[in-house]
Amino acid sequence: MDAQEFRQFGKAAVDYIADYIETIRDRPVLPSVEPGYLGDLLPKDPPKTGESWQEVLQDVDRIIMPGLTHWHSPKFHAYYPTANSFPAVVGEMLSAGFGCVGLSWVSSPAYTELEVVMMNWLGKLLNLPEDFLNCSEGPGGGIIQGSASEVTFIGLLAAKEKKVKDLLAIDPELKEADIKGKLVAYTSDQSNSSVEKSGLLGSMPMRLLPADENGKLTGSILLQAIREDKAKGLIPCYVVACLGTTPTCAFDDLTELGPICNKEEIWLHVDAAYAGTAFACPEYRYLMEGVEFADSFNFNAHKWMLVNFDCSAMWVKNAKYLVEAFNVQRIYLKDNHKGLAPEYRHWQISLGRRFRALKLWFVLKIYGVDGIQKHVRHQIGLAKYFEELVEQDSRFEVCTSSMGLVTFRLKGDDRLTETLLAKVDQRKNIFVIAGHFNKKFVIRFAICSRLTEKCDVDYSWKELQTQADEIVAPKLELNTEMIIKKGLAAIKLSDAATETLRTERSK
Ligand SMILES: *Cc1c(COP(=O)(O)O)cnc(C)c1O
Repeated sequence: MDAQEFRQFGKAAVDYIADYIETIRDRPVLPSVEPGYLGDLLPKDPPKTGESWQEVLQDVDRIIMPGLTHWHSPKFHAYYPTANSFPAVVGEMLSAGFGCVGLSWVSSPAYTELEVVMMNWLGKLLNLPEDFLNCSEGPGGGIIQGSASEVTFIGLLAAKEKKVKDLLAIDPELKEADIKGKLVAYTSDQSNSSVEKSGLLGSMPMRLLPADENGKLTGSILLQAIREDKAKGLIPCYVVACLGTTPTCAFDDLTELGPICNKEEIWLHVDAAYAGTAFACPEYRYLMEGVEFADSFNFNAHKWMLVNFDCSAMWVKNAKYLVEAFNVQRIYLKDNHKGLAPEYRHWQISLGRRFRALKLWFVLKIYGVDGIQKHVRHQIGLAKYFEELVEQDSRFEVCTSSMGLVTFRLKGDDRLTETLLAKVDQRKNIFVIAGHFNKKFVIRFAICSRLTEKCDVDYSWKELQTQADEIVAPKLELNTEMIIKKGLAAIKLSDAATETLRTERSK
């Protein structure tokens, strides 16, 4: 394919994406394909001679499109959002076009340098403590990683190296393997599955401590676990606190957990994968109070901040601990820029790096701080609106509501809500998923797509309500309530009218 053909193919692809997004509201959220559908649509062998780009686009429409789950449909309310915006898509495209691999500063200086500046912009957007920023005097800094899972794992590896070094410095007689065998990590039973996975990958038992009735890990539970383990001769090493848990978007209290970790010399990592974006709005920053106690902090710009997957922002208070854990030198990697810019390969697992800062820059530049704040507030507003709708139907109860996530259920036995969820998902008009809260089965309803508007929330609620009608009859009291309300309103009106008449007569 030459550049001339690329121009045509590329433009046609951009049109295809724009058409897709413009018509996404009218598509069923969930595809109607069966497992294995795709294999039957493609030849068993690669084509011997190349085909035209037109055929490729036709194939996309015929083979891929029917098997897509439409994450950006305004009626997609499952999981948490995954970001998407036109500026980010273009950033991704340019990054592919430049096609460099940023394995060191010199391998593409703009890669490293834009990332440094973007991570400072982003840190300031969230109002993170200065210590975490690349532009601070100290050893802190930020980097873009692929996912929150990766970040949690990297934090664990850094914490492990640090703990081993610290203990060996105190007692050189100790054996590294003995120390490593005794390390233990903590998080709450509400944390993301990736946190437990990081413990598995990093060979460090990850204790899932019971959260309180609000879904938070309390200081007293953490302290009790630490004491138990120390009494057994274990070495507490790593705590993952969560700002915005996956099941209910609960916020651990860092002012409680932070001082404990600092005092016990345990690395505190803060996972704010979804909710971190909300800290762009000053009114939500109280929820990250105590973040100054953390050793590392992470949020996914690719979740709620309009930057396409993957773009997970990680900051550390002291990058030395990452470098010490990950630095492997080779002659072909020799750095010759005298430490003026970070060598990000020492902060991550892979050697190569994508130009992810570009799409982040496009989003920050084109939306601006105002645009991002507006997006967050709009989505939280829609979740609040949904919550009100649920509360007006006495068959339902709202269980939690935080940021863009509401969990709710039909009152009574869990089986009612389970049936409702099964019915709704089968119809594929909207997509919601199950959750648990305080041992009860709930439906999670998240505002995900940046395209979601009030009319879509109305639509989704109606879908839920009409399916509920087939399980629990619309309650009569509802109507009685309505009649009483209307009656009261009428009485008020007539009182007002009488009052007006009276004043007019007395004139
Ligand atoms: C989504 C999520 C994760 C996992 O994010 P990835 O980037 O997909 O690894 C981790 N923690 C929390 C709280 C999340 O919401």
